[in-house]
Amino acid sequence: MSQKYALALHGGAGPKAGEDYSVTEAHLAELAKEGEALLKAGETSLDVVEIMVANLESSGLYVAGKGAAPNIAGQFELDASIMEGHTRRSGSVSAIQDVVSPVGVAKAVLEKSPCVLITAEGANKFAHDEGFEKISNPKDYYVLPIGVSQADIEQEDMMHGTVGAVALDIYGNLAAATSTGGVFGKPAGRVGDTPLIGIGTWADDDIAISCTGTGEFFIRAGGALTTANGYKLAGDTLQEALWRMLDEVKRLGGDGGLIAVNRKGEIAMAFNSDGLKRAAISDNMELVSTTFTPCR
Ligand code: ASP
Repeated sequence: MSQKYALALHGGAGPKAGEDYSVTEAHLAELAKEGEALLKAGETSLDVVEIMVANLESSGLYVAGKGAAPNIAGQFELDASIMEGHTRRSGSVSAIQDVVSPVGVAKAVLEKSPCVLITAEGANKFAHDEGFEKISNPKDYYVLPIGVSQADIEQEDMMHGTVGAVALDIYGNLAAATSTGGVFGKPAGRVGDTPLIGIGTWADDDIAISCTGTGEFFIRAGGALTTANGYKLAGDTLQEALWRMLDEVKRLGGDGGLIAVNRKGEIAMAFNSDGLKRAAISDNMELVSTTFTPCR
């Protein structure tokens, strides 16, 4: 056991230049401090990333959980995933409806199911069977997050938002989790990168990653696993590995961002959209919480 720990959070790569995100920056900062206290007290990275993402989901401040937007059929279909690095245990759900915490259901898939990904009606049934809190009146439950208007959610331009967390715990283990309402104006059944292990979320012995952005482009770029391979196999620094993958997303026509932590406790973040709502803290780094500060 060491005293080394690291935690990074994101609230999506969809902020608009000129908007005031001081409320989300304060929320992310407070949450990162809570996460730091948990890691220092010996909570595992797996538990901490779930707790962080569940809090981001229930806050209603981001396009995930309570802040999710309906698809064009008027349904709230949400995606989430979680992965533990040293065991590679993984769980995810896609197009799940009416649960307060999609990431909680994803963690239950990881812990209790032989499956990695459960989708749609199957995911709803799994959540129900596992006793997860159900939203009885979705139209009353969901809210518009800061910086998102009714007009935004009615357009079909793949505007987006997501939440995620990556952590290194004092046992030297890494984990990552991501949760999203997807992109605005999505058709029923559309699934992006977020619930795909190796694309929206990845953790192994060396690196943990959570992505956010136009999911179709992250899928085509190989997302998190391309980033991990850049770091582990191509000799990139952590930051270079993030940019290598993100530059490919951009070349393909997409935008977004990602956060990562390695087993040394280094944290890297990158985005090619207007901003990335994010916070980070570690045993040797002061708390940072920002939206538009460039990373390159
Ligand atoms: N990646 C998510 C998706 O495509 C959206 C986002 O990250 O903002 O569903």
